[in-house]
Amino acid sequence: MNKFIYLDAAATMLKSERLVDAQAEFLREKYANSGRGVCARVGAVDDMVRDVRNAVARFMNAKYENIIFTSGTTEAINRIVNILKPTPDLVVAVSDLDHHSARLPFQMSGAKMVVVPLDEQLNIDTEQIPYADIFVVTAMSNVLGVAQNIPEIVRRAREKNPNVVVVVDAAQYVVHKSIDVIAWDADFVVWSGHKIGADTGIGVMYIKNPSRFMPDKFGGGMVNTVSRDGVAHFMSPPECFEAGTLPLTQISGLGVAISEIQSKRADLNLIGYLYDELSKLERVKILTRRDACVFSFVIDDMHVLDFGVIAGAHNICVRVGNMCASWIHRVLNIDGSIRVSVGPYNTKDDIDAFIDVVQGCVK
Ligand code: PLP
Repeated sequence: MNKFIYLDAAATMLKSERLVDAQAEFLREKYANSGRGVCARVGAVDDMVRDVRNAVARFMNAKYENIIFTSGTTEAINRIVNILKPTPDLVVAVSDLDHHSARLPFQMSGAKMVVVPLDEQLNIDTEQIPYADIFVVTAMSNVLGVAQNIPEIVRRAREKNPNVVVVVDAAQYVVHKSIDVIAWDADFVVWSGHKIGADTGIGVMYIKNPSRFMPDKFGGGMVNTVSRDGVAHFMSPPECFEAGTLPLTQISGLGVAISEIQSKRADLNLIGYLYDELSKLERVKILTRRDACVFSFVIDDMHVLDFGVIAGAHNICVRVGNMCASWIHRVLNIDGSIRVSVGPYNTKDDIDAFIDVVQGCVK
């Protein structure tokens, strides 16, 4: 059997030894609930949660109270819909760069959807930003891997409607670039921990003005006092948005993942190299740019699922299909594509092995 080669970091990043050790140590030696006791062990868990939240805040140039832990991007966007409660008369702007997770929660809410045009390079066309009450922006498509100009998009959206609520899906962006919520000036920014090397089940929802919104989930851990008449008074943000027990083990790992990604991101020269090599093959149609964060392509007269099976038989894991991003595939006039995405652990040997498989398919 060939060595296992994982080229699907955009779906989820492999975990480092440090991450696995940190979570195992938490489970073995430090485990307790947070915010639910006064003994030293619970206090240490409280400190850990506070420290990781502060690390997330620094990572995004935010403040402590802006950072809410969620289970991931999809949950966060569904929660934003519950927080904003869009009515059918409200206009929600989306784009064809969106992942299903970014658009469907709003679409299913019954709000009026408008699709922002893309320019010739398939970026959000900042010259054609429409009026919107809510603007959903995918900071980096999981198929095309190109960073969008968020400050400019937000500025233009606010020109059309100063009260627009901007929601940024940063699930892919956060893997490759630093988020600066002050420069972005968006109202909500969401991402998933597992894409940057943390565990599944932990994600981040940044809210610019959390006191402006009512919590969307209720229960333990978010109540400050209950008055004599039985009325509950909630804690201040961020805790009032975190009803129930937090995913503590995953939070302990998120701190490690953040420090690791800040010191080492994936080497995008590997994507450039792959681009150069596959450009030489006639039947290969590349959909992405040389400097994109992912590499997506199709092979003439070959179904992407067939390619996925062949790559799998060589023990190489890549993503094939519509990548939960049907709209951009429709724009490209194809049903699906093949996507290679690299993590900090990938090497040129991995890419060479993949190129061999593609060459074998187009012979
Ligand atoms: N948005 C984008 C751009 C993504 O790439 C993904 C995952 O692939 C998601 C949203 C959904 O993330 P999750 O499944 O972690 O909630």
